Amino acid sequence: MNSLNLRAENRRKIINFLYESSGATKKKIAKSLNLSVPTVTLILKDLTELGLVQPAGTLQSSGGRKPTAVHLAYDSKYSVGIAITLYHIRLVVINLGEEIVHYKCVSHTFENTAQYYQYLADELEIFLNDHALPRNKLLGVGLALPGIVNTDKLLLEYSPTLQVHDLPVQAIAKFIPYPVLADNEANLAGLAEIWRINDVESAIYLSINKGVGGAIILQNKIYSGATGHSGEFGHMTIVKDGLTCSCGKRGCLEAYCSTNILTDPNFNDVEEFFSALKMGNQYCIRKWQSYLDYLATGINNIRMIFNCDIILGGEISQYLEADSNLLSQRLLGLNPFNEQPNYLHYSKFKDKASATGAALLFVDDYLDT
Ligand SMILES: [Zn+2]
Repeated sequence: MNSLNLRAENRRKIINFLYESSGATKKKIAKSLNLSVPTVTLILKDLTELGLVQPAGTLQSSGGRKPTAVHLAYDSKYSVGIAITLYHIRLVVINLGEEIVHYKCVSHTFENTAQYYQYLADELEIFLNDHALPRNKLLGVGLALPGIVNTDKLLLEYSPTLQVHDLPVQAIAKFIPYPVLADNEANLAGLAEIWRINDVESAIYLSINKGVGGAIILQNKIYSGATGHSGEFGHMTIVKDGLTCSCGKRGCLEAYCSTNILTDPNFNDVEEFFSALKMGNQYCIRKWQSYLDYLATGINNIRMIFNCDIILGGEISQYLEADSNLLSQRLLGLNPFNEQPNYLHYSKFKDKASATGAALLFVDDYLDT
């Protein structure tokens, strides 16, 4: 490792350490991270100049000079994430600690027109004004898009939900007077979730809604794959010649684990299904048991391939969490190494995950430089 990399690595370590502690002195940081005090002093000076670190008052000492503690100044910068879906625009503001400071959801149907993008940009300004957020602290605006996003070319290559092909992100960004980045919604949701889990740098995010998708995150970075189709867990074949999937093929995980499997044709939404389940409806109980069997098959396959933590997100994650014992039993039964399924996590950000992940793109960059 060259000296520049080493310094960046040490800087990252110090930021992480401060992130997890409510304040620490130079000496404590140096001792905990096995670094020299001069190294820590130098890096803290840099971070202070960036406004990232602030004094946190003096700590009690046994005598002599009282050491000054420092902490991360989470509110020195902020970042915005916008999740665009067919019927909604979700906006979040997060600080450097990945805390959602403000949130707004607007009902507005997507159309690929300048009017729609102008409306979105106007909503952003209203949102920032409503909370009196100074623009000089804004790192940028991340966009979470439902489709395949080429992040190098900043191009939404295809979105079945929005019915667009090859839409340059610039078509949206030109209405927004701040730096703009974009990525796929599931990738970003995964990024948001993994940030919240201590000591986990690689994980699979499995998103379960009407569609089943996901993201592969390795060393805190999204792995997009050769053609941007990585993490399409919904189209893993789990039953040979099985049920027809929305993609037209047979036996995909999505054909067994889409939330439509639970709701159609008797319930309007998952909430209705689960309240009937709670009331002891026998049909729902059988449906749920069989659903969990297939889901466990999919999760076990993912675990066998990646051998890393798996985060369950999407509309159904809260119900899965409530019945986590049922899922865990099945996973244990399928696991050839008798691993307890404590590699499984449940979404913390729920329907704000994609927007939060989009905002995080800028925070991640900022903390990394
Ligand atoms: Zn499929």
